[in-house]
Amino acid sequence: MKLVFLGPPGAGKGTQVEIISRKYSLDKIVMGDILRQTANANDELGRKVRYYMERGELVPDEIILAIVERYIRGKDSFILDGFPRTIKQAEGLESITDVDKVIYIDVPEDEVKRRLLNRGRLDDKPEVIEHRLKVFKEQTYPLVSYYERKGKLVRIDGLGSVEEVTRRIEKALNFK
Ligand code: AMP
Repeated sequence: MKLVFLGPPGAGKGTQVEIISRKYSLDKIVMGDILRQTANANDELGRKVRYYMERGELVPDEIILAIVERYIRGKDSFILDGFPRTIKQAEGLESITDVDKVIYIDVPEDEVKRRLLNRGRLDDKPEVIEHRLKVFKEQTYPLVSYYERKGKLVRIDGLGSVEEVTRRIEKALNFK
């Protein structure tokens, strides 16, 4: 099973991907983690990636596609977290492999802001949060209708406890 998890920053994607991947032995491919690692290297690619991440901007599609391809190619099951984030990336993904379902974790903007301010990651500063939400709306949200048209989208209400959201996902995937 090849899954994509989609949602605004702060929707609880990372938490759910962690739980579902462990429970059902699916490899998780977490783009943000891969990029944070890449950004730690003191080379040109590292500096470039860091530049975008610190500003809450998306790292350019060419860089992302070049990095992610080797994590995906040849695998017949995985969960993707944080990729694709643009239509261009979704098209790039399609040229590598077909995904089965896209889980969209839906959380209203007010709640997402509250959660991010409480999380305190390096790119969770108020100005950067605002910008990441804007980037999400403009560049990533269009993927919801993109995958809806392909009949792959599964909408999950992301409000409530972690366990409740997990149960909704399992039910939607017929895991339970
Ligand atoms: P995340 O941990 O998923 O919130 O990602 C943290 C940051 O990494 C984002 O704000 C972007 O700067 C960058 N990033 C993660 N995934 C992608 C992607 N698929 N395309 C472009 N930039 C990304």
